[in-house]
Amino acid sequence: MKELLQNNVFSERCFIDGKWVPADSGATFPVVNPATQEVIGSIPRMDTAETQAAIRAASAAFPTWSKKTAQERSDVLLRWYHLMMESREELAHFLTCEHGKPLAEARAEIAYAASFLRFYAEEARRVYGETIPAHRTDTRIMVLKQPIGVVAAITPWNFPSAMITRKAAPALAAGCTMVLKPAEQTPFSALAIAALAEQAGLPAGVLNILTGDPVKIGQELCSNPLVRMLSFTGSTEVGKLLTQQCSNTLKKLTLELGGNAPFIVFEDADLAAAVDGAILSKYRHSGQTCVCTNRFLIQDSIYDAFVERFVERVGKLRVGNGLEAGVEIGPLIDEQAIAKVQTHVEDAISKGASLLLGGHPHRLRGTFFEPTVLGDATPSMRIATEETFGPVAALFRFTTEEEAIALSNDTEYGLAGYFYSKDLARSWRVAEALECGMVGINSGFLSVEIAPFGGVKRSGLGREGSHHGIEEFLNLKYLCLGEI
Ligand code: ADP
Repeated sequence: MKELLQNNVFSERCFIDGKWVPADSGATFPVVNPATQEVIGSIPRMDTAETQAAIRAASAAFPTWSKKTAQERSDVLLRWYHLMMESREELAHFLTCEHGKPLAEARAEIAYAASFLRFYAEEARRVYGETIPAHRTDTRIMVLKQPIGVVAAITPWNFPSAMITRKAAPALAAGCTMVLKPAEQTPFSALAIAALAEQAGLPAGVLNILTGDPVKIGQELCSNPLVRMLSFTGSTEVGKLLTQQCSNTLKKLTLELGGNAPFIVFEDADLAAAVDGAILSKYRHSGQTCVCTNRFLIQDSIYDAFVERFVERVGKLRVGNGLEAGVEIGPLIDEQAIAKVQTHVEDAISKGASLLLGGHPHRLRGTFFEPTVLGDATPSMRIATEETFGPVAALFRFTTEEEAIALSNDTEYGLAGYFYSKDLARSWRVAEALECGMVGINSGFLSVEIAPFGGVKRSGLGREGSHHGIEEFLNLKYLCLGEI
């Protein structure tokens, strides 16, 4: 992989207090390309002591960074944005190497990741306070917004770049400092972003990135009193565990967790548009995003027509190494991921689902899986209640709008939901009734830096992106000025 890189952003060391360092013990982890199973590099296996050092560095950097003017912080973020866009091709290449997603999707992710740097460079200058008409004539009431302090962040492998900037950009714009642990599977994108931050002039200690033992690093990040907030993206299971671990020091939390997105196609939908949206929302990143559709709910009267068009399109998706031109479906991230997908498919078939396409590991072997479509799915199947995180579409039938809403909401999750309809009144009714944080109406795509991303129920707390995203990193301070 090193031969792909020219811009000096590939690092096999962690970034703590402005220095590139190995683990104290010298221990490392291999990182594997899921498309070829080749080891592409190794990263330090850090644990408690290095995490404490990173937290101390972030804490020491906080007074200076938070007191800079908003313009100064904004300038650094903007330089960082430009550096990222200039390195886009290079970053996309090694994102594909460590994650497996097709190069076109990797390029899109780098642009999406960089967009948070630009957006929050702009928002940094718009953290306005407030004056409130007072309850007495000799009193004035004001509200200040102040950065919360040192923020810990833990990110997943499915968006190795965008999840870093979606957290770091608003945090740093607000004046916070950060200690971030990326997923073990995809650390190089995170370390490259840190290298670009350094080139952009980010002061030492403001952003620290360390890799290693997730349990030990997580325990320290959650229990250390210097850390005031945890921002986590990952599974609901780990989110709950981290919430418990943070309870003793009562940290502020933002959690972006699992989903079980419904995608409803009503009989009045534009069927061609619905099929396009369905492909995008299901097969993007081989189905490995938390907003990917998990359940397609298709109205009886158009079920067969939808199936015919959808299966034809899915059958044409090209599977392969993401670096090859024209590939649309890359490998799954690891063996565990493929085992889960296979279990869900077998469970659904054993409970009466019809296999309309695929259903097996791909002939390319490794962690490639055939794009799969299952018909006649029912709520008793695991795929109805658990996030599959793979290229498997399960199609359910429904008859009435009420039934579609009830089925959609019959889940502990509440991240994204989608539906296709040309009826305006129905669109309002359904959008309001869906229990989720984001709704795509005649759209299979939601993720953009200017809109608030996040969920309800067991899909999480708080929002990332948009002007709401920066508020998560700010404390309100009320000033009561008397004797005027
Ligand atoms: P996924 O299923 O997407 O891998 P996880 O929740 O397991 O989701 O992982 C998301 C992130 O959480 C990764 O960075 C992973 O290393 C981290 N993680 C997993 N387990 C723990 C833990 N016990 N403590 C802290 N972080 C963890």
